Amino acid sequence: MTKARCNDMFDLSGRVALVTGGSRGIGKAACIALAQYGADVVVTGISSGNQATVDEINRMGRKSIFVRCDVSNPEDSKNAVATAVKEFGRLDILVNNAGTATVEPAEDTPVEEYDRVMAVNLRGLFFMCQAAGKAMIEAKRGGRIINIGSIFGRVGSEIGASVYHASKGGIVVLTRALACEWAKYGILVNAIGPGFIKTEMTKSIEEAPELYRLLRDRHALKRFGTPEEVAGAVVYFASDASRFVTGQNLYIDGGFTAW
Ligand code: NDP
Repeated sequence: MTKARCNDMFDLSGRVALVTGGSRGIGKAACIALAQYGADVVVTGISSGNQATVDEINRMGRKSIFVRCDVSNPEDSKNAVATAVKEFGRLDILVNNAGTATVEPAEDTPVEEYDRVMAVNLRGLFFMCQAAGKAMIEAKRGGRIINIGSIFGRVGSEIGASVYHASKGGIVVLTRALACEWAKYGILVNAIGPGFIKTEMTKSIEEAPELYRLLRDRHALKRFGTPEEVAGAVVYFASDASRFVTGQNLYIDGGFTAW
């Protein structure tokens, strides 16, 4: 295969993507990478940081808007999808990136904390899939749904993240279930399981030398990753390069799960 044909497989020109949590970290890197490969991007989230991502994409010559969307509110998710379809005329790619974490010993985790994490990481992700899936089914053009899970959806840990583990584990099998259910509509659903990535979410870990060393050394590559190192997999799952792939969970984890 020539290099040009190889590049064509990743071309996203004319496609419209919606990313949840585009203000920073992995979500922002995903937005920029999708735009670099030609997609227009609906950036969603809560904070003002999302507008900076929109501005960066606009400077690249791609179309982008910010739609406020708290994924724990299914009405916000419906509105974000409806706005994407209204403003861009279509929705081809959904990246469910928005996420939150908690660190509490399992024996002391309050009900409110359990509900807060699940409302974003699993319930929020499900209703975003539902809203986007419905629009994709109606449009009859198929689509791509990319769920950001975690290595913690596969392995346990002793650090007091049991609720986070549960939410991310749910994403893995939800991804498989939706892949089976929506294959008949040409909607491919895959997940990405990052290892530890240098973002706001992991800042407190990097600031705790002992915990940082412990977790860093569980990666075969002996380092945390960067958001950009996750974004390549997002482009892959969004593009024709993965057109025979659905229901999969790809670990981008520097070998954390290879032991
Ligand atoms: P950050 O904490 O840097 O960013 C989180 C993003 O999620 C922000 O853009 C934030 O938006 C958004 N967000 C949080 N809550 C909501 C909500 N209720 N509604 C909409 N948006 C929300 O996290 P990362 O970039 O590190 O993580 C991104 C994803 O990757 C998460 O799902 C996380 O679980 C997962 N992940 C991260 C790993 C890591 O090591 N960093 C490892 C494995 C998985 P806003 O700024 O608008 O509030």
